[in-house]
Amino acid sequence: MANQYEKYERSPATKKRYGRTWKKIRDTYVASHPLCEVCLKHGRYVVAEEVHHKKSLAEGGAHAWNNLIALCKACHARIHAQRGDRWRQKITRKNGLSE
Ligand SMILES: [Zn+2]
Repeated sequence: MANQYEKYERSPATKKRYGRTWKKIRDTYVASHPLCEVCLKHGRYVVAEEVHHKKSLAEGGAHAWNNLIALCKACHARIHAQRGDRWRQKITRKNGLSE
């Protein structure tokens, strides 16, 4: 599931910045933040499926925990859509999220 993002959304140049180290950080982060942090703020308990960099690596962000946020797929897609990033996956409304 989470690999769709890896497969379709990262250019080869960006991909170089992600590797085994990032995977390890991400796994540890998700283990400590198993629920979507945005949904949680709204009182919803949704399993986190992605770890997002608040400040992207391209903008100088780091893999530091204070730069990370655990998100469900819908919230992750929405953040990227709001940022104007390319996001080819359909943003589903199945979770009943409203803007
Ligand atoms: Zn969410």
